Amino acid sequence: MVDRVRNIVILGSTGSIGRSTLDVVAGTEQRFKVLGLSANSRLTELARQARDIRPKWVVATNRAEAQRFDWSCLPLDTQVLVGTESIAEVVRQAEVDVVVAAIVGSAGLHGTWAALEAGKTVALANKETLVMAGPLVMELAAAHGGRILPVDSEHSAVFQALQAGRRQDVRRIVLTASGGPFRKHTPAEMAAVTVADALAHPTWNMGPKITVDSATMMNKALEVIEARWLFDLPPEKIEVVIHPQSIVHSLVEYEDGSVLAQLSPPDMKLPIQYALTYPERWSGPAARMDWNASWRLEFEPPDPQRFPALELGYEVARAGGTTGAVLNAANEAAVAGFLAGQLEFLDIVPACRAVLEHHQYDARPTLEQLFKLDAWAREEVTRWVCT
Ligand code: NAD
Ligand code: MG
Repeated sequence: MVDRVRNIVILGSTGSIGRSTLDVVAGTEQRFKVLGLSANSRLTELARQARDIRPKWVVATNRAEAQRFDWSCLPLDTQVLVGTESIAEVVRQAEVDVVVAAIVGSAGLHGTWAALEAGKTVALANKETLVMAGPLVMELAAAHGGRILPVDSEHSAVFQALQAGRRQDVRRIVLTASGGPFRKHTPAEMAAVTVADALAHPTWNMGPKITVDSATMMNKALEVIEARWLFDLPPEKIEVVIHPQSIVHSLVEYEDGSVLAQLSPPDMKLPIQYALTYPERWSGPAARMDWNASWRLEFEPPDPQRFPALELGYEVARAGGTTGAVLNAANEAAVAGFLAGQLEFLDIVPACRAVLEHHQYDARPTLEQLFKLDAWAREEVTRWVCT
């Protein structure tokens, strides 16, 4: 893949990561060709993107919306495909080099699965895939010669810092967390949090689901589980530290006590670009550190009482099996309930714990079993909301 145009497909191109990926493509002098785009809704935005970059395929996963939409504005050489199955068809094409997995939630698993099965490189933003089915996804990648390169900024940082030493010399990795908007809230203030409060993240501009996850710190819990499978590390070698400035994206501590960090302003364009150009590094559009400015970097341990999601994440990272799929789906449903005004902010994590404790655990589930549990956990949250 060196020294030629890299052909990419962007799944979830209308989202925050999808749009940042298109900014990376625009800011790297035509060294990427975007062959495919996908979106579930906001099809006007999808069509506008297609007019700009003229991909071979656009996939609209929501059939009802796709059938209502007037596609006549698309370039003549762009083919429209409808339905979730079309994602697999596109990512498998021989000319595709890298698939950017930027769909939100467990819906993102299908595309990543199909790409890895076809031996592709996946630039993985969709952490829910690894939370839900980490061992199966990693086994699939190994069996078919597929590769997962992290886009999540913390995992990209760890991936970069791991290149400084030998795997057997890693003492632990340290994931940084901004702490979200409620880092210093009292329990009473937490109880009064509104949807607008939860959607106002202090350092990152992201889609609504991950923004709420950052406010509960479920995002960090999911990232502990993601790191557990992606780097094959036992949970006791994964630490979390609060770093409100979001400049140090994570750290790797080696046996001799050296700690290697990756720093950059909070801008997802950099980890996206690194996953697309790896192992090369290209000049690109991401924000840079300004060393004429003063920077203050603070670190503090997270408060487990204020953020009980973290302990839940560790429990799931330790238990593995079916627990990741259940936690992930319960959280998706609870966050959707909160955004719809059906659930209080402080009920999100207890709802997840209740569903998790209630489920039928299996240490070696199949993918089919995980999808069934995903649906079951969503229904359980709905029942929990109604009682
Ligand atoms: P977003 O909500 O902004 O965008 C989601 C995209 O997925 C949209 O293009 C949407 O059309 C598509 N989509 C939604 N539901 C779908 C479905 N059922 N089937 C097919 N497509 C569907 O989300 P985002 O913030 O860009 O996050 C995307 C993923 O990246 C998430 O897994 C998130 O955890 C991860 N991530 C995001 C950031 C960030 O800065 N936004 C950082 C790290 C990781
Ligand atoms: Mg992250």
